[in-house]
Amino acid sequence: MKKNEKFEILIEDLSKDGSGIGHYGGQTFFVRGGLPGDRLRCAATKLKKSYGFARILEILSPSADRVDPPCKLYPKCGGCQILGLSYEKQLEYKQRMVEESLARIGGFQRELLEEVMEPILGMEHPYHYRNKAQYPVGEGTSGEIQTGFYAVHSHRIIPATMECPCIIGQESDAKILAVIRKWMADEGVRAYDETLGKGEVRHILLRTGVHTGQKLVCLVINSNRLSAEQSLVERLSAVSGVCSISYNINTRRDNVIMGEQTRTIWGSSRMEDRIGTVRFLISPRSFYQVNAVSTEKLYRKALEYAQLTGGENVWDLYCGIGTISLFLASAAKQVYGVEVVPDAVEDARKNAELNRIKNAEFILGKAEEVLPQYYDGDARVIQQNGQGASHPDLVVLDPPRKGCDARLLSVVLQMAPQRIVYVSCDPATLARDLKILAQDGRYALKKACPVDMFGHSMGVETCTLMERVC
Ligand code: SAH
Repeated sequence: MKKNEKFEILIEDLSKDGSGIGHYGGQTFFVRGGLPGDRLRCAATKLKKSYGFARILEILSPSADRVDPPCKLYPKCGGCQILGLSYEKQLEYKQRMVEESLARIGGFQRELLEEVMEPILGMEHPYHYRNKAQYPVGEGTSGEIQTGFYAVHSHRIIPATMECPCIIGQESDAKILAVIRKWMADEGVRAYDETLGKGEVRHILLRTGVHTGQKLVCLVINSNRLSAEQSLVERLSAVSGVCSISYNINTRRDNVIMGEQTRTIWGSSRMEDRIGTVRFLISPRSFYQVNAVSTEKLYRKALEYAQLTGGENVWDLYCGIGTISLFLASAAKQVYGVEVVPDAVEDARKNAELNRIKNAEFILGKAEEVLPQYYDGDARVIQQNGQGASHPDLVVLDPPRKGCDARLLSVVLQMAPQRIVYVSCDPATLARDLKILAQDGRYALKKACPVDMFGHSMGVETCTLMERVC
């Protein structure tokens, strides 16, 4: 097989990143846009020893699960990977992906998984669900300002306009982007050019409180001061819903989107949203789940698995702005949240105040460094922050994709809570960590429920319950 060679292939499965997987000539091929059941004519684009990549030349016979993608930018845009697959099938794949990870990586028996796994909680309306987007800013060939999304595997901008707004983003974003593009054109503010490291506006971060209608606008700029600030404020503050305008300074020459420093130039420094009845204030740099409706389903599952009766001490590790902590607080005696981002910890404390929740305390630091300070081995004596911190009844883990630090898991095991609720956005690291928690037989996997937070992409959240059995 040579590069550009043409061949026919039947797509059998989906990869973790949503590419179709098929076999040809003893090799595995990954085909972007290919769906299980598709018979395709392809051309090889890249060849490795035992696998390769190919692009679709023609769909010879389509998969029965194909639907007309409801967006003109698909599949050029790198945002949605599986928009061409029916939503029911997407959910089926995600359910299977979680089950396969728990079986293959976690080593859990298939019979056990059949017993403990609940059906995935999908979305009723899988469009316009994202409450956050970071739009790259660039200039087209004739110097016109562009805002949109990066094309697949590149930094070429696919413009998102009022005529073609993002199908999973907020429809109201298009208007704000148009105002900013016009401001840049009128005031001669240049877009950042990453090859030269010159120009000013790099990204536009937009966040929407889907329950409050509030919008937070933050321009990420490549300088210490925003040009034509007053003119921007005048234009943006007139847009309905905008409650916060800020800029974030990022003069780095890499792919990291946000810098360390954010300055609010109009309105509040935070935006408000709700999950259930709990209100949350959110800073531009704090983590907040991108899908508020599915998040409520996820947290309700976590609350159900927690089985709190009102007398429990809870540690919520990787707590962000305190979302899970505050969601559980009214059912527990005391909650301790640990988070590494200072803005998020500050938000979490403000959020406890805002909701008049008095039994939640937030600690800044790395979970793997903070938790051992509350546990001294076997005496359980260190009680720096009140009774019960060193002997939790429940530990909640909700780490980023890379999962938990092994040191942290070992301290959690030593602290021996009755229950561990592990919420994860990556089935592979979840399975790896659950295997560690289950390995000496003191904890058993009791429940697992996938939740679809990210319709049309391959991402999936999972809520799991581990219980102490001896
Ligand atoms: N539970 C929250 C946040 C989950 S995202 C929610 O549902 O909204 C994971 C969070 O872990 C992020 O806020 C991130 O800043 C934080 N984090 C990453 N590494 C960490 C570490 N080593 N210790 C504590 N927090 C960490």
